[in-house]
Order: sequence, then structure tokens, then C-alpha cells
Amino acid sequence: MDLSLTGKAALVCAASKGLGRAAAMALAREGARVAICARGAETLAQTADELRSATGAEVLPIVADVALKADVSRLVQEAVAHFGGLDILVTNAGGPKSGPFSSLSDEDWQRAVDQLLLSVVRLCAEVVPHMKQRGGGRIIHVTSVAVKQPVDNLMLSNSIRAAVVGFSKTLATEVAKDRILVNCVAPGYTRTDRVKELLQAGARRENVDESEIERRLVAGIPLGRMGDPDEFGSVVAFLASERASFITGTVIPIDGGSVKGLL
Ligand code: NAD
Repeated sequence: MDLSLTGKAALVCAASKGLGRAAAMALAREGARVAICARGAETLAQTADELRSATGAEVLPIVADVALKADVSRLVQEAVAHFGGLDILVTNAGGPKSGPFSSLSDEDWQRAVDQLLLSVVRLCAEVVPHMKQRGGGRIIHVTSVAVKQPVDNLMLSNSIRAAVVGFSKTLATEVAKDRILVNCVAPGYTRTDRVKELLQAGARRENVDESEIERRLVAGIPLGRMGDPDEFGSVVAFLASERASFITGTVIPIDGGSVKGLL
């Protein structure tokens, strides 16, 4: 299937590792020009080199913290100035602190709102006017299966990501007339550093081996394994593509069947 992404300009946030990196890789493989951001310059530059040598694509690394308004503004300005506009935005950020309600401070909540919700709002505020000017675009928000089914011990993720889905659905309706399509992807357990951290935290909390925590997690996944980041990246590339031209306002789980609900 030709995704018709050749030459498209994409901005993928939080992309030096994990799911963001996989999304950037999939877009670059399809011929898109890709700006990637993360907070640490060194890992980001290394990832940009890896993406270039794996795909031959043009890759622009921009150091930015998506939780900071000024960084978001500069990030979008630099990407737009470099590519002459943007066709695709993938919003993403590092996962919030894990733990139950009793373990979270007011500062933890504020930090998670800045990182997971306000980053998305601000990125869209900066990018949508450019997409309107260009005659259309694609926005894909990285959320979590937690928006379909809360995950134990992830109070911050379960609470704040639901607001991202409300924002995404509302924005999808508002900008449909501008040919901007807005969707969420909801990954389940996918083998990244974030998941390694969650396994370690679970093992410490319950005083068992990490392999025991992993066994319990995988037991809830009908396909019997965690996802691979490339499997996630493929879905993002499809949603960003011309082939997904009648899909907007949705939430698409990429979870091996782990969500138990019907919708
Ligand atoms: P990861 O820790 O492997 O990678 C996170 C990336 O985000 C890194 O490149 C890091 O440098 C960057 N980053 C973190 N905070 C940032 C910030 N404030 N500004 C810019 N860049 C930042 O994590 P991941 O597994 O790729 O997860 C990505 C997102 O998807 C997280 O929000 C995570 O909670 C969510 N998620 C992951 C899974 C999974 O199984 N991997 C499942 C559901 C949801």
C-alpha cells in the first residue's frame, strides 16, 4: 500500500526513544521529512543519526521540553521555518509518575497536567494555524489504553489522558472543515524503556521479580505478548497517510486485545 507520505513534513514529539522514535522511524521510512524533539541533546542527536542512516530521510532534531510553553512555541517555529510548514503532528511526552492517589502530591498533579495535557493543547494551538494555511493536515495524539480502561497504579495517566481524548474529539469536529484530521492512538504494553521502569517499580512495590510482574501483565493480553514499538509506528504512519482520509475523532487501541470493553 502506498501511504503517499513522500516529502510530507512531520513533527514527532518526545521521539529520542520508545514510541515517539518508532513513530518517527515509520514516517521516515515512508519518505516523510521528520522533526523530532526531546529534552536531552545527546540522545536526540544520536537518534536523528540512526533515523537518517536507517531511512535516508531528512531528520531535524530540536531540543525541547513539551511541558514548557516557551519550548513548544520555539519547537513549532523551528520545524515550520525549516520545512516551510507542517503536514503531520504527533503529540507525545514521557509517561507521568506511577502510583496510587495516596502517593501523589499537588506538584505531581501539576507536572503531569503540564506534560500530558497542556503540551497537547499548546502544540495544537501552534500547529493548527499552519495546517489551515496549508489546506489540511494530520494530528495524532499518543495516549494509552488507560483512556479505554484504567490501569492499576497509574492514577495520573488514567485521569489526565481522558482529558486529551475529550480535547482531541472536540478539535476533530472543529477543524474537519479545514481538512485537518485528528485521532488518538492508545498503546497497550509495548516494549520500551518506560515499560522497563514500570516493571521495576512493580517489582520493588510488591517485592517480587520483574519477570513475575511481566508474566502478570502479559497474562492480560490475548495475543500473549507485549507489543513491539515498530507495530505501534506502523499504525501512526497509516493514520498520517492519505490512505486514512476518512478517519477522524477516533481512539485506536494498539494493545494486542487487552482492552476488555466493546467500544
Ligand atoms: P520512553 O520513556 O521509552 O520514551 C519517552 C521519550 O519521551 C524519550 O525520548 C524522552 O526523552 C521523551 N520525553 C520525556 N519527557 C519529555 C518532555 N517533557 N519533553 C520532550 N520529550 C520528552 O516512553 P514510551 O514507552 O515511548 O512512552 C511514550 C508515551 O506513551 C508515555 O507518555 C507513556 O506513558 C505512553 N504509553 C506507553 C506505553 C508503553 O507500553 N510503552 C503504553 C501506554 C502509554
